[in-house]
Amino acid sequence: TTPGTGKHITILHTNDTHARAVESSPAMGFAKVAGIADKYRSENPNTLLLDAGDAVHGTTFATLVNGESIVKVMNEMGYQAIVPGNHEFNYGSERLVELADMMNFPMLSANVKKKDGTRLFEPYLIQEVDGVKIGIIALTTPETMYKTNPKNVEGLDITDPTAEAKVLVNEIRSKVDVVIVLGHLGQDASSTDTSFKVVKEVPGIDVFIDGHSHTVLQDGLVSDHGTLIASAGEYTNYVGVIDLWVDAGKVTKKQAALIDEAAAKDIKPNEKVATLVNSIQKEQEPILKEEVANTAVLLDGKREQVRAGETNLGDLLADAIRDVSGADIALTNGGGIRASIEAGVVTKGDVITVLPFGNQVVTIDVKGSDVVAALENGVGSYPEPSGGFPQVSGITFSIDPSQDKGSRVHSVMVGDQALDPEATYTLATNDFTAVGGDEYTMFTKYPTTGMYGALDEALIEYMQQLGAVDIKTDGRIKEAALP
Ligand code: ATP
Ligand code: ZN
Repeated sequence: TTPGTGKHITILHTNDTHARAVESSPAMGFAKVAGIADKYRSENPNTLLLDAGDAVHGTTFATLVNGESIVKVMNEMGYQAIVPGNHEFNYGSERLVELADMMNFPMLSANVKKKDGTRLFEPYLIQEVDGVKIGIIALTTPETMYKTNPKNVEGLDITDPTAEAKVLVNEIRSKVDVVIVLGHLGQDASSTDTSFKVVKEVPGIDVFIDGHSHTVLQDGLVSDHGTLIASAGEYTNYVGVIDLWVDAGKVTKKQAALIDEAAAKDIKPNEKVATLVNSIQKEQEPILKEEVANTAVLLDGKREQVRAGETNLGDLLADAIRDVSGADIALTNGGGIRASIEAGVVTKGDVITVLPFGNQVVTIDVKGSDVVAALENGVGSYPEPSGGFPQVSGITFSIDPSQDKGSRVHSVMVGDQALDPEATYTLATNDFTAVGGDEYTMFTKYPTTGMYGALDEALIEYMQQLGAVDIKTDGRIKEAALP
């Protein structure tokens, strides 16, 4: 392509890497991403590397050390800035601030606020590159407020990103040559605060680097106001490359592209990053490899299955939660089950991969009518998958999807008795749903009556009790027309 006039700036970007540290096709892994960055930096010293969020959580590589491994690797890779995505909050906001402090580059977000209205992080960064002033404004998805454990965002507010962008673009536009928004907003129609909304309502943004919807934008998109929107998929499958030319305080040309593993096949991985990733993996290996149980069958935790119906892993986990707590019934959100387990030896690593959130088992004493309300909430979008789909134990019920949301659950039995809406049941669940995660808001009025340790430990203990796990779904959740 023909260059524009003026200074050439290259901006490399990643998003939704979700701790895919190691190469696993089509994921390139961090060493390769760093190698790509090295190559661009050697060709153009005016190169920045930015991350649009969801970096510090997603595999055992990260979760075993509450995100610290990712920070170490990103420091070595030489990032200039990151915006926290919803998953950055998975270890709690205090831990997020600790991680941000460990980073030798800034974590930025204009719309993550404390209750007193002050910001948790700096809203933007102005970086001068070869005499060109680049303003980088960061925005986090307000969906974080209900997509992570509510306790992880306690005392925080995530305000309207469009309103923040309006104010800040206005504030810095005249002070900089280039305005970049680094956003974890995404482009899904299901979200109200998308990057599309921001670029439509806020003129004066040269480039919007997006994450959250895991969108692959091969050459970017250009909005009505001329903003170039870029997004690099997920899992280190791509590195985004934006070329900008800036002359006399104006962007004269801009373009976006993505590098994937085929395009990067001749690029050498960065050796220091490869060594670091390896050494972290080696350290973690003994814990992850620990054999904790055996299963005769595949335990199904596939996203589309476990968020849309009963699976044997859903049953097993709900049984484990009920068993460890001695509760009458158990309910756990399908979206909290993040992977399947193959038949054979089960390792600690397998279990943490299924349950990476560090959740606790808790009990609450719930009125029967609220148990039904909870089931209704969980199956509201059935047969469409949704994170809140209830995996249950000690209770059986049927769903009639032809009925409206809120009145499609029927034939609810607790043990061998019909559920009594007026009775009180001890319900075991995880601490995410207990505090209203996945819109289980009917639970929030009940005080916790017991805590029974970590969800992953409960699953391991229960599998050990069973000996060889050989569990099939037993039809505790059925689809059936209302009688
Ligand atoms: P993205 O990677 O695009 O940000 P996402 O995580 O926002 O994806 P999903 O993969 O659908 O979107 O995950 C959200 C679901 O994960 C929630 O609906 C919920 O079911 C589950 N979830 C999130 N945090 C927790 C938690 N702490 N405990 C249990 N389940 C959780
Ligand atoms: Zn993500």
